[in-house]
Amino acid sequence: MPLYDYRCESCGKTFEARHGFSDPAPACPHCGQAQVHRMILSAPTHARGMLTLAGDSSRASKEQLQDKWAEETPKLRKKLVDKLGEDVVNRNAPSLNHNYGD
Ligand SMILES: [Zn+2]
Repeated sequence: MPLYDYRCESCGKTFEARHGFSDPAPACPHCGQAQVHRMILSAPTHARGMLTLAGDSSRASKEQLQDKWAEETPKLRKKLVDKLGEDVVNRNAPSLNHNYGD
């Protein structure tokens, strides 16, 4: 079964869960909240790549990664929109809309 990354809407923590493709999202293991978002895998990899380029990947804290994520996600999203179109991005990468346009 595939492994999915989730982010909890309630406590903001991320976690991984392994379950079938059509199964519903699991509740957050940290707070039990069921409002969780599935994250696409390519975008965090993209953010990690940024930090690697910055030369500090091994010591980068989670906060730094999140800062970088918040900074880079709108740029990544715009690139994807330019390439694929707004509809495709909204449909396939809804997590990129997080914090976008706020
Ligand atoms: Zn939670």
